[in-house]
Amino acid sequence: MTSPRQSPSPATLDRRHVWHPYTSLSHPLPTIPVERADGVRLFLEDGRELIDGMSSWWAAIHGYNQPELNAAMQDQASRMAHVMFGGLRHRPATQLAEKLLELAPAGLDNVFFSDSGSVAVEVAMKMALQVAHTRGMKGRTRFLTLRGGYHGDTFHAMSVCDPVTGMHPLFEGALPRQVFADRPQCAFDQTWDPADTASFERLIEAHADDLAGVILEPIVQGAGGMWFYHPEYLRVVRRLCDTHGIPLILDEIATGFGRTGRLFACEHAQIGPDIMCIGKALTGGYVSLAATLATRAIADDICRDDGVFMHGPTFMANPLACAIAGASIDLLLKGPWQRRVQHIETQLTTGLATCHDLPGVADVRILGAIGVVEMRAPVDQALLQAAFVERGVWIRPFGKLVYVMPPFIIDDDDLGRLTDAMADVASAHSGEERR
Ligand code: PMP
Repeated sequence: MTSPRQSPSPATLDRRHVWHPYTSLSHPLPTIPVERADGVRLFLEDGRELIDGMSSWWAAIHGYNQPELNAAMQDQASRMAHVMFGGLRHRPATQLAEKLLELAPAGLDNVFFSDSGSVAVEVAMKMALQVAHTRGMKGRTRFLTLRGGYHGDTFHAMSVCDPVTGMHPLFEGALPRQVFADRPQCAFDQTWDPADTASFERLIEAHADDLAGVILEPIVQGAGGMWFYHPEYLRVVRRLCDTHGIPLILDEIATGFGRTGRLFACEHAQIGPDIMCIGKALTGGYVSLAATLATRAIADDICRDDGVFMHGPTFMANPLACAIAGASIDLLLKGPWQRRVQHIETQLTTGLATCHDLPGVADVRILGAIGVVEMRAPVDQALLQAAFVERGVWIRPFGKLVYVMPPFIIDDDDLGRLTDAMADVASAHSGEERR
């Protein structure tokens, strides 16, 4: 007789069979089972609670299990979760497009919905390539971008990520070769140094005839280093793109919807793009949805001589996602989001002040609802993650960076626990007790 086969535990199944982001299946990093989430708290299967410092990678700006977003999702699910977008239309998409165009920087006039940030970037780059084509400049196939950038994990998106910290060495030969300007050095609140754009100016002039577009993250370089640069840099970029007739693509996927204290980060520089990518917080972190917005001039050029834009994902403009996104935007706009983000910025500034003097800390920087402690040496991610969980907070460092970007609804006590935990861990990592 054979004994009944015992099914492996969830932990074993996960470790053996399920990929997690940027990990090995041979030597997987520990994962923590979450049972549910509510407000700013993640509830673990073993009964512990963690205060969320990550907003699930910039997305959950309203926190979790939000009643108005739940209602929008349930209402839409009871009508239709999805229909194809080829030849059909629906109100969740048209209403969302109307809201987005009302809020977006001036000049953006049409919306392409897709399923994730990386795809929104692919779509933006494809738009720029098609525009070059119909403008009779088929040689313009490359993109100028910044070192220290991050734009996603699909192939064209990878090609404009930082060539050193990104995935270029791994996919050598398979990636388009782009043009990289030096990372902006002048910080957001420093005195502007006109020399900062020298490399960008030189490269746009040298490559103007090869470039289909310029793509960059406005103000905040996120996953490529959590660096906040000067708004004047963006104004110079806008001017040079205009001079050379090159479309400017702004990737607002991480920064959009209030994270930096403005609805879109490019508002800090009072400039707008020709093409803009949004995602992440678009649905308040509920489901995957992204969009690429473009000006009428871009659309007209793509569609000239009976041209069409060559993209059409299966789940394009998913009604469930669009309905939740519409509700998320309404929720954001009807609340005092600017005051909240400003308040978080002030509290992060005081809460992380002690970190400045720690020997292991290279820099502390804060912008809007983003707080970053940059260590001098790379941190042990698994060790620090465990140390944070021990302290009842969810903070996931990478490289030299220990950072938080909490949901906007976080209260003072919970934010205080996040900053205390960061200061404690930075202090322990500096090899001395917190003073
Ligand atoms: N652009 C930026 C600026 C991002 O931060 C990210 C995600 N971290 C992406 C693009 C890619 O988005 P997704 O992970 O949804 O594909």
